[in-house]
Amino acid sequence: MTARVIAIANQKGGVGKTTTAVNLAASLAISERKTLLVDADPQANATSGVGVGKEVDRPSLYDVLVDGRDPREVIVPDRELPYLWTLPSSQDLVGAEIELVNAADRETRLCEALRGVVEEYEFILIDCPPSLGLTTLNVLTAAKGVLIPIQCEYYALEGISQLLNTVRLVQQNFNPDLAIEGVLLTMYDARLNLCRQVAQEAKEYFGAKVFRTVIPRNVRLAEAPSFGKPILLYDVQSVGAKSYLSVAQELVRRRESDPVGVGGDPS
Ligand code: ATP
Ligand code: MG
Repeated sequence: MTARVIAIANQKGGVGKTTTAVNLAASLAISERKTLLVDADPQANATSGVGVGKEVDRPSLYDVLVDGRDPREVIVPDRELPYLWTLPSSQDLVGAEIELVNAADRETRLCEALRGVVEEYEFILIDCPPSLGLTTLNVLTAAKGVLIPIQCEYYALEGISQLLNTVRLVQQNFNPDLAIEGVLLTMYDARLNLCRQVAQEAKEYFGAKVFRTVIPRNVRLAEAPSFGKPILLYDVQSVGAKSYLSVAQELVRRRESDPVGVGGDPS
């Protein structure tokens, strides 16, 4: 077993990256797929989203990236889901980008660190911060696929070409196998023309890469993080829970039809 490593990235803020990372990871885990959720955002919302507390002395991704700590010493098992593990983040990750600026291997640190654990999981999902800085470059270098959440709102596709340029740069310099795993439409409201229009544009641009499942705007998805729970442990009957379970199934199907994970052109 070698994990399918998926970066959840979009430098635009608040588009549903963390919600997707947490709930997709939990959905894969409940389907008995061994899954590691890596929180690569100093905001640490994915960490708290699965109920991992912010104890001051808890080691985090910072220690892995900056001090070369073995990720096995940092990864924590989930309290409730036996197939889920988390590599938590912490606020000090903000400093990592500056501390690593002169390191020769600064873009490949995460990739190297995960090398030791990729055999232990079926999926590794990595939540990116809302920027295209060094941390995101590390994540894209470590990943096989990029999952891009797109919020159905005005200017939804703005900035996407910048993201795709970064993907190309990483392909050319660090990770030739990197591919677009999929595009996920989030906070969808079928009553709004605008949402349908964004969905249409995304399909014109990304074709079959767009997941068939769309994530509707659902208040239960927004409530669950304050309880430190993924949606399926908070309200399994909600449309939000069902939608993320369905995306997880699409991911599993894609993985099975492309087991080596070699991708094509990102666009
Ligand atoms: P950032 O760029 O700051 O990391 P993000 O892209 O990770 O943000 P989220 O934190 O997942 O975005 O979502 C932004 C806000 O929208 C959060 O308050 C979240 O609870 C809410 N939200 C996300 N998805 C949905 C949804 N489908 N329905 C309702 N609320 C949602
Ligand atoms: Mg986030």
